Amino acid sequence: MHPERETLMTEDLNPFHIARQQFEHAVRYLPDLRHGLVEFLIRPDRVIIVEFPIQTHDGIVRNFVGYRVLHNSVRGPGKGGIRYHPDVTLDEVRALASWMTWKCAVADIPFGGAKGGVVCNPKELTKDDVRMITRRFIVELGENIGPHTDIPAPDVNTSAETMAWIYDTYQMMHPGRNNLPVVTGKPVDLGGSHGRREATASGCLFATQRALARGIVKGLDSVKGATVVVQGFGNAGAIAAELFAAAGARIIAVSDTRGGIHAPGGFDPIAATLHKAATGSVTGLAGTKPVSNEDLLTLPCDILIPAALENQIRADNADRIKARFVVEAANGPTTPAADRILFGKGIPVLPDILANSGGVTVSYFEWVQNVENEQWDVEEVNDKLLRKMNRATDAVLDTQQKINGSLADREARRQRAGGDSDRLEPVDLRTAAYVLAVTRVSDVTLKRGIWP
Ligand code: NAD
Repeated sequence: MHPERETLMTEDLNPFHIARQQFEHAVRYLPDLRHGLVEFLIRPDRVIIVEFPIQTHDGIVRNFVGYRVLHNSVRGPGKGGIRYHPDVTLDEVRALASWMTWKCAVADIPFGGAKGGVVCNPKELTKDDVRMITRRFIVELGENIGPHTDIPAPDVNTSAETMAWIYDTYQMMHPGRNNLPVVTGKPVDLGGSHGRREATASGCLFATQRALARGIVKGLDSVKGATVVVQGFGNAGAIAAELFAAAGARIIAVSDTRGGIHAPGGFDPIAATLHKAATGSVTGLAGTKPVSNEDLLTLPCDILIPAALENQIRADNADRIKARFVVEAANGPTTPAADRILFGKGIPVLPDILANSGGVTVSYFEWVQNVENEQWDVEEVNDKLLRKMNRATDAVLDTQQKINGSLADREARRQRAGGDSDRLEPVDLRTAAYVLAVTRVSDVTLKRGIWP
């Protein structure tokens, strides 16, 4: 067997196991966390599994399975998207919910972490089917979502339109009060926030610019003139390509599920968006050559933006990554083994819980506007987002410097305490972001007091 194939087969790609490994690694740098608190912080508060039938367009009655996981609500109500995909599993939703907890803490917004998903393939369903699935799913979740308990948002294969159906269904169930804050990512004329559609990508650009300006990549202090590759051309990826190009970067390759396109001299991502709108895919855009999704990831470039799904950069391909900087617009695109390989090669990874936190940050702004019956203009939203992203990026970079600058002291302390056998090594940005987030969540847990 090919050695790379063997490595992949031995790598555990279960997202919940990966989230646990990331958390446990970070906790090694937090020796004062008590054991019970560590267990509380990794386990979800609540897991809901629902099953329901829908009669689809072809007259067939089909059963659907949906999940909603509330991971942690110490810092505020649960917050997290709803995903429609045939590969959704409970472990994936549990992992995504925990990443939301850490992301909200890194972004320093008063929400906890949650996530939902329905196992379905929207490509085989009509719009009416998806609307019925959405309404039925929300009814099944009942009182487990709400403006002050758990607030959904868009994720893979869900959109502002899906959020409008969620709002409408919840409003039917709870008439006579302001229910707009029950869900974010709504259409702008239905309580949505200006700037929310672009928020994940804008936040990604702001965090990238801040990290580059602080010297995270030697010889690359701005996105201006940088070559950029984007995997996944949906809400996060397509808009990231457009915004990075508008900031002076050269987009040289992008992809979607049908394949990728490549032009070393660069191309206009807006042309790719229009081409996708007309044909259903970016493939075949004039002036570009086809590239497979595997080869796209290993193209030489300054910045690689995975913006599709989990487990794209793994033990079997990380060594071939030639980007100088990886910016995670997607959740969980890099496995722990790949993280170690990239760190060893000196390629920094701006982790998902920082890099894509612009989406949930503007979701929080939307929630505030809904609670106050306000609508801010787009400049106000973007100014606030820029400040939040700069602060969060600084906090993660500062945490990394602080940990790596005090390793000798930390290691001596670990040994005195008779700690586990592995030495404390310098941390990457992901571990730094986790240390920051876990510290913020555990501090609030202790301030509130263990109940009763
Ligand atoms: P989306 O459904 O709008 O887009 C996903 C895109 O990825 C599509 O273009 C699809 O064709 C492509 N894709 C799927 N599998 C692929 C593969 N194997 N190779 C190449 N392309 C592939 O979803 P989205 O909302 O953009 O979410 C993408 C990622 O960003 C997810 O990990 C999501 O959790 C994360 N994210 C999204 C938001 C948001 O606000 N939408 C916020 C934070 C994080």
